Amino acid sequence: MSTNDNINELKRVLFNESEINSRLDELAECVSNQYHKCKLTVVPIMNGSLMLAVDLLRRLEIDFDLRCLNVESYYGETKTSGEVFINSIRMPNFSGRHVLIVDDIFDTGKTLEAVVERIKCECNPIKVSSLTLVKKKKETDVNITPDFVGFEVDDLFLVGYGLDYHGKYRNLPVIGELKKEIIANSTF
Ligand code: 5GP
Ligand code: MG
Repeated sequence: MSTNDNINELKRVLFNESEINSRLDELAECVSNQYHKCKLTVVPIMNGSLMLAVDLLRRLEIDFDLRCLNVESYYGETKTSGEVFINSIRMPNFSGRHVLIVDDIFDTGKTLEAVVERIKCECNPIKVSSLTLVKKKKETDVNITPDFVGFEVDDLFLVGYGLDYHGKYRNLPVIGELKKEIIANSTF
């Protein structure tokens, strides 16, 4: 199986490489402008935001500290379990620092809500903000929305550019909608 075969498993591409790259240029400029006078710690949520974090952070024109958090909530299904596990027993101290959480996609918002709450309660930051590359247009039960958003999309299951289905498709250079029959015929 090559990446080309995986692209054929998409119903359609929503954002191609050049669209992602130009949006990242814009987001990086906004973040650099907003934080140029602050002590910034960027907190990417792994694994989904791996590609995004690399491509965004190398565009930043400001100094920042980096602290990745490993968070699980999806379990490879196309719907969130609702439970969020932050795999960090001891959280870092962010005293005197602004925190920017970076995540791949905002769906129900439960992941971002849990991470923001935990950082506010346990890490003593000056302020916590967030950036997601994609935000689904849907009603949510949470009182939080990302401060920076790359793209708004309909409520679809997406893969590519870090977003996976059972661990697959993360290395697609585009973001797309997975064919329904791939999910229906899945043997996972
Ligand atoms: P939440 O529902 O908490 O906002 O999103 C939880 C996590 O589920 C996200 O960080 C992301 O990793 C994953 N997720 C949400 N929507 C999608 C999607 O459309 N495709 C994939 N592959 N993962 C998603
Ligand atoms: Mg995620």
